[in-house]
Amino acid sequence: MNQDTTKHQGKRRRLANILSEKGIKDTAVLAAIASIPRHLFLDSSFEDHAYQDKAFPIGAEQTISQPYTVAFQSEQLMLKPGMRVLEIGTGSGYQTAVLCHMGAEVYSIERQHELFRTSLKRLPALGFSPKKLIFGDGYKGFPEKAPFDRIIVTAGAPVVPEALLAQLAVGGRMVIPVGDEQQKMTIITRTSQADFEKLILGEFRFVPLLGDKN
Ligand code: SAM
Repeated sequence: MNQDTTKHQGKRRRLANILSEKGIKDTAVLAAIASIPRHLFLDSSFEDHAYQDKAFPIGAEQTISQPYTVAFQSEQLMLKPGMRVLEIGTGSGYQTAVLCHMGAEVYSIERQHELFRTSLKRLPALGFSPKKLIFGDGYKGFPEKAPFDRIIVTAGAPVVPEALLAQLAVGGRMVIPVGDEQQKMTIITRTSQADFEKLILGEFRFVPLLGDKN
């Protein structure tokens, strides 16, 4: 495995400062960005670029999200240590590591086997202990462990999956980009068993949340 050096540490502290200047305020999010070796979630050919505020390919036609997007979604979760979080789209495992660093009990689902297998090895090797990494279809959520205090979807969903709404705890919060080409970052709060409130916070661009047929 590649090394983590003081040079990398300096670069990620600078990245956290850039995200703070871009408006991220949650100190737990900034501390996670400043601490987690993003270059070790990427192919070594990206080592020199890993602390730029950019998305990069991770194989299987997928990407690690831009750090600003990771920070924005993590902040919008309004996470407290010990909360149960369901993540859809483990990808490289970087966002999973951010949630673990913030003290969450993380369940994360990935539908690409190659990415699932890599994260299954990578996260414990880097000292992160998600509660469970699941190989499967995130549209279905993870009913075995529902309800979740927080749900984060890291791919663009054409619609909000019904199964995820059903698995959100009352008082819980979901952060999900909704749309096809561009996505509206949608925050859903479950205010009672039957009621949900929706808030839209800006536009982002994600790879699509893929269903059974694609
Ligand atoms: N959070 C990831 C990271 O930090 O690297 C970035 C995720 S990437 C933008 C979106 C991920 O969602 C991809 O790894 C993709 O394979 C996964 N994905 C797409 N559709 C999915 C589905 N139905 N269920 C689970 N994962 C899915």
